[in-house]
Amino acid sequence: MKIYFAPLKFSNKDVTVRLNKELSGIFLVHIEIIHINIDLSESYSSERKQYHSTKIIESALSKTDFADGKVLILTEADLYVPVLTFVFGEAQLGGKLSIVSVCRLHEEFYTGHTNEELFYERTKKEVLHELGHTFGLLHCFDWDCVMHSSNSIEEVDIKGNTYCKHCFDDIKNQIPLHFKE
Ligand SMILES: [Zn+2]
Ligand SMILES: [Zn+2]
Repeated sequence: MKIYFAPLKFSNKDVTVRLNKELSGIFLVHIEIIHINIDLSESYSSERKQYHSTKIIESALSKTDFADGKVLILTEADLYVPVLTFVFGEAQLGGKLSIVSVCRLHEEFYTGHTNEELFYERTKKEVLHELGHTFGLLHCFDWDCVMHSSNSIEEVDIKGNTYCKHCFDDIKNQIPLHFKE
């Protein structure tokens, strides 16, 4: 099994390289960068000035037949689903596709001050979180676990940056070949 990163309107190479390194260490799988040709304007709402994440996932699905594993889209685009003002990300539960928006993970978004380290930490948490959903994980009650729900940036900062043992065991059960102990 592979994990694919698909940058979409995302050009922060430092973050991609760091994530790639860290995640391949966590999942013990090869991570490949791919480029999916998606027309983002199809998911754009001119009223909300945001992009509908579910629609992006749908259009990505038809273009990732070649990918055997999990595909995570990373984007600067601000995402929404109709019932919420925004989402940090969305995932197909137990499926292939997930998406993370870093738009509201930038510290500048809230305070006007850049904090690259905090930005990376938040991005890593949300990437692990959405990937966790594609491995079938639901929200976890443990605040130290990255699978805890986070509906605000404060909650993203509070929760842990790794999976709890219970959640990680669930993931390992799905890619057992890589985790011979
Ligand atoms: Zn979630
Ligand atoms: Zn957990």
